[in-house]
Amino acid sequence: MSARKIPAPAVNAEVKPFFDAAGEGKLLVKRCAACAEFHHYPRTVCPHCFSGRTEWREAKGAGTIYSYSVLRRGVPAPYCIAYVTLEEGVTMLTNIVDCDLDSVRIGQKVREVFKPTDGGPPVPMFTRV
Ligand SMILES: [Zn+2]
Repeated sequence: MSARKIPAPAVNAEVKPFFDAAGEGKLLVKRCAACAEFHHYPRTVCPHCFSGRTEWREAKGAGTIYSYSVLRRGVPAPYCIAYVTLEEGVTMLTNIVDCDLDSVRIGQKVREVFKPTDGGPPVPMFTRV
């Protein structure tokens, strides 16, 4: 099985701190100072209450697989795309990596890992604990 090249994410000013932190091995999520809710993907304006008082917080990096799909056909190497719900309560679209893809199940506990991309910053992904 050949390694899969991960495309570089599109980085704009709104998400640059997220990817800068990923480069340091930290997973950031946004929390709203007005309503105290977390959200992801990072936004300047809170999607819950529309406040502009959003702050970066470092996530624990632990989560649970909410849903997943293993892609095997038409790709250079099989990979697992998944929704992972972090302990902070937000759900991220991500990949499950560094484990037997046949063993992946909904509800499994996962932890963050950071994977290099093709010419861009590393991206947070998850592996089984
Ligand atoms: Zn809010």
